[in-house]
Amino acid sequence: MSKHIQAVRGMNDILPQQTPYWQRLEQTAQRVFEAYSFEEIRMPIVESTDLFKRTIGEVTDIVEKEMYTFEDRNGDSLTLRPEGTAGCVRAGIENGLLYNQIQRLWYKGPMFRHERPQKGRYRQFQQIGVECFGMAGPDVDAEMIMMTARLWRELGLTGLELQINTLGSAEARARYRDTLVEYLNAHHDQLDEDSQRRLLSNPLRILDSKNPAMQLINNNAPKLIDALDDESRQHFEQLCGYLDDAGIPYVINPRLVRGLDYYNQTVFEWVTDQLGAQGTVCAGGRFDGLVEQLGGHSTPALGFAMGIERLVLLLEATAKVENALHAYLLMIGDDAVRRGLRLAEALRDTLPGLRLRSHCGGGSFKAQFKKADKSGAAVALILGEDEVQQGVVGIKNLREQNPQQSVPQSGLANYLKSALAL
Ligand code: ATP
Ligand code: MG
Repeated sequence: MSKHIQAVRGMNDILPQQTPYWQRLEQTAQRVFEAYSFEEIRMPIVESTDLFKRTIGEVTDIVEKEMYTFEDRNGDSLTLRPEGTAGCVRAGIENGLLYNQIQRLWYKGPMFRHERPQKGRYRQFQQIGVECFGMAGPDVDAEMIMMTARLWRELGLTGLELQINTLGSAEARARYRDTLVEYLNAHHDQLDEDSQRRLLSNPLRILDSKNPAMQLINNNAPKLIDALDDESRQHFEQLCGYLDDAGIPYVINPRLVRGLDYYNQTVFEWVTDQLGAQGTVCAGGRFDGLVEQLGGHSTPALGFAMGIERLVLLLEATAKVENALHAYLLMIGDDAVRRGLRLAEALRDTLPGLRLRSHCGGGSFKAQFKKADKSGAAVALILGEDEVQQGVVGIKNLREQNPQQSVPQSGLANYLKSALAL
């Protein structure tokens, strides 16, 4: 026998057992986003490699070592998108959605990064993302964070911590960069290899290091927040005020710099301690320079993305999603099949939301009943020769020890409606 072909490492199938949690998350997110007047946009999964190099930054983990880049048959360099913001901004500019306009957009779909697979970290993973254009904040910064807080509430997720920080203006960051480099240079021998390299290319990213050995040196580093310009300081203070007003607790984390280059001013993450090292379930911030950087008109913008797999892990641990079958229809004999298929259609017509499985494939009463029991359905609907002749359906509760009942076919929909609370 030939060897089975397996899924690519780090790229997973989402099985029927898990999809109810995915659907619950996706449906709730869409409903919450619509309550804040966000509209969905769908972008291609593949973009020109240059798009990501120019937006995410040449000296970032993503661009340096995580992208799935290939040449197509024309020799063009293409990349499977590692995140959604770059493509969303490109689409916005290309389709004239951004100039002099307000846009509140959301998207979802697979992203690709060649990382080391582990719990909560995969090579193909899914994000739901949100981007706002044309608003300078900080009111919209606050409202967007409130929207995420509402989403957690509606999903029943607790124990998430909101961390916020400000990166200030480009000028303030440049000043801070000099101070930071001076400090890090003074501790040069304690820097890990990655950080020594980044000291020259992108020193702020050293603060974002995941290496525990870098913790102490990063904790004692001068803080960006102390180097802020007045406007950025005010923006940040106002944001904090709005969050206080809304009763949303937060922690100011001065080392929160985010892994992508395009952020400025507000940055934030929602973090859990339930997923080990992969604790960030939602992350975002402002990227006021990005639209112009990609050739559009200067447009203030902000957004965030959440990792669906990580949120699903949390959902599975906290909230059981019920999607069991309501009813399983047994049909014994050909007359029963002819009657049963039509009866099932009529039930689906009159009972929206009914989850009904008809037994297809024949077999004895005993065999069919076994399948009904195993299916997890609440009740078995039994249609044999006798029932067809008498115009009734046998009903057996599969979860309680009640005697089988007989209900006229004409009254079945009403009976199920109240029995199953549909
Ligand atoms: P991390 O610090 O965990 O690597 P990141 O800063 O690279 O995350 P972003 O680019 O901000 O992540 O993406 C937003 C969210 O997408 C993350 O907070 C996380 O929930 C999710 N995410 C990112 N990379 C992965 C991955 N490889 N597998 C699963 N989820 C991911
Ligand atoms: Mg990462």
